[in-house]
Amino acid sequence: MGKNLIALSGKSKLADGKPVGGRAGRLTRPMIDKLQKYYGNAIRRCVDKKAKSKQEVEDAVKRMQCAIKGVLYHSVKIVDEKKRHQYCPHGESPWCSFKRDKAVGTNTPFLDKSYHLDPVFLEFLIPLFDRLSENKLLKRCLLGLSQNANESVNSLVWNRCPKHRNRGIKSVETAAASAIMQFNIGAAGRHGVMKELEISGGYYTKAGNGKKNKKRVKQANARAQREFKEARQKIRQAKLVEEARLKALEGVTYQSAAFNEDNFNGSSKRKRKTDKTTPKEGKSKQTRKE
Ligand SMILES: [Zn+2]
Repeated sequence: MGKNLIALSGKSKLADGKPVGGRAGRLTRPMIDKLQKYYGNAIRRCVDKKAKSKQEVEDAVKRMQCAIKGVLYHSVKIVDEKKRHQYCPHGESPWCSFKRDKAVGTNTPFLDKSYHLDPVFLEFLIPLFDRLSENKLLKRCLLGLSQNANESVNSLVWNRCPKHRNRGIKSVETAAASAIMQFNIGAAGRHGVMKELEISGGYYTKAGNGKKNKKRVKQANARAQREFKEARQKIRQAKLVEEARLKALEGVTYQSAAFNEDNFNGSSKRKRKTDKTTPKEGKSKQTRKE
């Protein structure tokens, strides 16, 4: 979702003659982040691990598709409120304040947030939301699995063997083996390796590894708390706002895959050619003049 929205935000102008990104009501970087988060929430809310039969799976996917549509319609400033909140969940405690207000009966008017998108974005984003609501894709999400475990192993590997330094294959293999051991058994896993190597670990090795494990569990429990998650989201939002400000000031200074080998070699070769030709041309001009 995020990658696709970023690609769309690079387009110049929409049907209303205004640019896609850049200001309130448009597809800014913080708004892209919000839509990405809401899309994930919509899927997670409709996870159904018990859906086994074809009908149950189809119903669960339909609920997911409805929730995803709700994210788009609710986030766009559609004048007709009924149309805008038609896919939002009913009840007294849904995330949509319009539906919540209707259920409780307080008659508080629904107020637009500064990040809500201009009406023109409905037509603009429907094809992307439809593509990301395909049956085939959503069926894979029904179990509610995440990539967190993969990311966690990855971070352990790159902690041991940072990507910004050139390493040989042996170092990477050792880092991967050590990371997997830590992930599966914890810091105490190295006792087995030491035993195989006939290096007997003493009291302090055991005590140190036990301490490491306890610290890790304590950290994981703290990170799983709601306050911690909210604080982390706020920090992320603030970073995105700052990034958008710098981008508006300096333009694009980094892009995914913009510095990969092909691009880098291509540009350096071109640069070298032009460097070589300029002095020659200069010389020949000089000799002609002489
Ligand atoms: Zn709503």
